[in-house]
Amino acid sequence: MSRAYRIAIMPGDGIGPEVVEAALSVLDRAIAPQAVEMQYSHHEAGAHYYRRTGLSISPQTMDEIGQADAVLLGAMGLPDIRKPDGTEIAPQIDIREHYGLFASLRPCRLMAGVPTRLKADKVDLLVIRETTEGLFAGRHDRLEPSDESVSDRLTITRRTSEKLFELAFAQARTRRERQGTPGHVTLLDKANVLRSNAFLRKVFDEVAERHPDIGTSRIYIDAGSMMFVTNPERYDVVVTENVFGDITSEIGAGIVGGLGVAPSADVSERHGVFQPSHGTAPDIAGQGLANPVAMILSAAMMLDWLSERHQDPGCARAAADIRQATEQALKAGVLTRDLGGQATTTDVTRAVLEQLEAAHG
Ligand code: ATP
Repeated sequence: MSRAYRIAIMPGDGIGPEVVEAALSVLDRAIAPQAVEMQYSHHEAGAHYYRRTGLSISPQTMDEIGQADAVLLGAMGLPDIRKPDGTEIAPQIDIREHYGLFASLRPCRLMAGVPTRLKADKVDLLVIRETTEGLFAGRHDRLEPSDESVSDRLTITRRTSEKLFELAFAQARTRRERQGTPGHVTLLDKANVLRSNAFLRKVFDEVAERHPDIGTSRIYIDAGSMMFVTNPERYDVVVTENVFGDITSEIGAGIVGGLGVAPSADVSERHGVFQPSHGTAPDIAGQGLANPVAMILSAAMMLDWLSERHQDPGCARAAADIRQATEQALKAGVLTRDLGGQATTTDVTRAVLEQLEAAHG
């Protein structure tokens, strides 16, 4: 019998609560046969919370979620609820900074039954985006008011880059063992122009030398972005700077069916926040139209992460079951509107649950 994991649930705004509810029912069904236990605590944060309290997340909530074994987050922020400086409420970014979640893992896998405009039979790649520095490094720098010019700062540190690349090589190895991928890491950068990126590449080369069993490529971000569309099969693990990763992970999501099927995980060595790549989708909130697949697959990523951290094979089996049940449901044609179908959030959730039932009786 494994331990009971403490999971902090943050449903958030818009479609967040709808997809979180779907993912929790799938999660509960998947862990039951594995004798894995979860204790959920629910936490409020985001745009509605801000409107009521003037805070996007309370210090107490920030503290409590850090004590959990993992955080499962829906989506936060709404375009019509903003801070006085005009920016949206984004506690997910505050959490990232507070807990030093330096890497965002964004797997992009083309699943049977999901329509794509791409002429490719197979896409199975993982974008790892650095999330605490790069071109976001100066987010809190003092801005000298000017109508003539404004600059943003791009900073790369050895400490974060080494952690990032070690994680990328470890992920390439884990993926090779788990799903038979080649064991390869591609660095996307602009080392031909930006000094910061030349340094990034130098650190990458140093870390790569410690992992001779994993293949490597270094590609400039412009050509590398095109390859997501022309030759995505060339990618296994792709690792890159903050803003390059922000953009390429959405290209990756686009080629495998869009945001509705794109899960993600923000991690440090100690903390993990698991959330879909999409936002709160206010245009479809409350109508039962949200695709829960990205959130469900994020819950599976959480189980994999718990399995690795706690050497718990039950969690890994539950994660594999969720992925398989979700793929079967999609393959059977249970597709929400974003994927060209008519199914509701509940229809997809029910179809995934039925697949889990069929697998375990
Ligand atoms: P953010 O900046 O927070 O990422 P955004 O407005 O750029 O937010 P989303 O909220 O993700 O982006 O929405 C972008 C589009 O994708 C919207 O039209 C939305 O309806 C659609 N969308 C996003 N997530 C889903 C989902 N799970 N199911 C169906 N459609 C979705």
